[in-house]
Amino acid sequence: MSLDEFGLIERIRRRTAARADIVLGIGDDAALLQPAAGQQLVVTTDTLNSGVHFPAETPPADIGWKALAVNLSDLASMGAQPAWCSLSLSLPDASAQWVEQFAEGFFPLADLHGIALIGGDTTRGPLSISITAMGQVTAGQALRRDGAQVGDDIWVSGVPGEAGLALALWQQQALDVSRSAGDAALEHLRLRLARPTPRVELGLALQGVATAAVDVSDGLLADLGHICARSGVAADVLEAALPASPAADQAGLCKSFTTLRIGAGDDYELCFTAPPALRQVLHETMASVAVPLTRIGYIRAGTGVQVINQEGGVLVASRQGYNHFSSFGA
Ligand code: ADP
Ligand code: MG
Repeated sequence: MSLDEFGLIERIRRRTAARADIVLGIGDDAALLQPAAGQQLVVTTDTLNSGVHFPAETPPADIGWKALAVNLSDLASMGAQPAWCSLSLSLPDASAQWVEQFAEGFFPLADLHGIALIGGDTTRGPLSISITAMGQVTAGQALRRDGAQVGDDIWVSGVPGEAGLALALWQQQALDVSRSAGDAALEHLRLRLARPTPRVELGLALQGVATAAVDVSDGLLADLGHICARSGVAADVLEAALPASPAADQAGLCKSFTTLRIGAGDDYELCFTAPPALRQVLHETMASVAVPLTRIGYIRAGTGVQVINQEGGVLVASRQGYNHFSSFGA
């Protein structure tokens, strides 16, 4: 069934959750929101383009989940509590079925984190989804990239590299992203790519603990490199300390995983720094938010990120992350 713009907007509006701090939601020229006293507004935007950020055959429900997840991940890395979002859809045709399926992925994740859709835009064009997510953080408490200190530990959540491995398997036609994989290990990897988990609770728990934080969207080294550049420090990552992937092991893909876990993006894990005196606190955080945290290295004086291998040799790889314009020398 094909609908006009207003029919599509109505289908989306029906699904949005209510929040007491929305004075005026979808339906006027703009939304009216009432931020809480003493809170700072945290705002982020991320766009997903078909064929660039997801394979064209990705199911609309997975696109809906991921478009919101990548934005929630940016709020998480700031230590923010999600509140509101807007959704800009560019659709090749006004397909009600596509919008319903997109909503099947988008709204369950939105509801999980209490983020309400307060507006957006719907246009015809190549498939593209742009979301602006807004959250709140107690004034002065946001996790930023510029606070890492010499001597801090470097931590990462989850298993970076698994989404990149799934993407590599798709590129080799060894994984179909349009359906569940029969094999449990392959399905685990597919879901890391299709349905990343934004680490919102972890980000909130890291307030007052982490000195700097970033979400791993472009690759562990590249994103840790952002912390180093903004903080004016260097990072040493110990290869032997990087989290292993049981799924990669089971699928017999351990070897290809080794480089992906430092260079591949799309995991949406959090990488953060914290003083060694807070190791015990972080073990308690890990238990309370039920997300594995691994200490992978330390911050030192200098510039750049290096990975130290088992033999103590240095693999300098600080520019391995995903860069859309790298072929233009940017
Ligand atoms: P305008 O022309 O004034 O920008 P629109 O016709 O684009 O208004 O949108 C009408 C209402 O529907 C607005 O409140 C807008 O925020 C909302 N809206 C439009 N597209 C979307 C969408 N994809 N998701 C959520 N809200 C939307
Ligand atoms: Mg509009």
